[in-house]
Amino acid sequence: MDTDKKNLKSICLFCGSSPGVDPAFRLAAAQLGTTLAYNNIRLVYGGGHVGLMGVAADACLVAGGEVVGVIPRKLMEKEVGHAGLTQMHVVETMHERKALMTQLSDGFIALPGGYGTLDELFEALTWQQLAYHLLPVGVLNVSGFFDHLVQFLDHARDQRLLRDAHRDSLIVDNDLSSLIARMQAFVPPNNEKWLDRVSKESIV
Ligand code: AMP
Repeated sequence: MDTDKKNLKSICLFCGSSPGVDPAFRLAAAQLGTTLAYNNIRLVYGGGHVGLMGVAADACLVAGGEVVGVIPRKLMEKEVGHAGLTQMHVVETMHERKALMTQLSDGFIALPGGYGTLDELFEALTWQQLAYHLLPVGVLNVSGFFDHLVQFLDHARDQRLLRDAHRDSLIVDNDLSSLIARMQAFVPPNNEKWLDRVSKESIV
């Protein structure tokens, strides 16, 4: 895996397999798909045709962009796979899926979503803080959807469970162009992960 790419040629999108309530979510997903296509950035995602995922993929394809899906066989067989992608990788496990999505991408963007989106977002951040990859991780904060999550991360930092540098490595923006520009300028943190190591004796 190339672990130090500043040139974003391929972005991995994490987002809801449901559309959500706020129409701004669908608008942002469509805008993201179109923007990537116009900038010749390949869209890599979970391969579904459902929810915000499907909206982003369709918009990218309509605008002439390249869209690559990575879907586990079980989900493909449930017929949630998108039939019109540039390329679809069918893998056996969710772990394989995330590893391949990372391998195919130069950075990650999360849009509003549920557990699946949050799991993917936090795995990307976890791998980054342990330097398994050094790729930028961004969140498009549509309609303030991620405000509470960001507050919680500040709380984790204040409780010294998250380093300042690792808290700051998550790029949060409510404007897509600005988010992409900040991801392009991203410098990975080089701190080690652990804070305030304690001996076993000091706990008991
Ligand atoms: P969620 O946010 O729980 O809706 O999960 C969406 C995320 O998990 C996406 O970024 C996908 O990679 C993955 N995912 C969850 N459900 C599906 C599905 N039905 N089809 C394809 N990918 C899915």
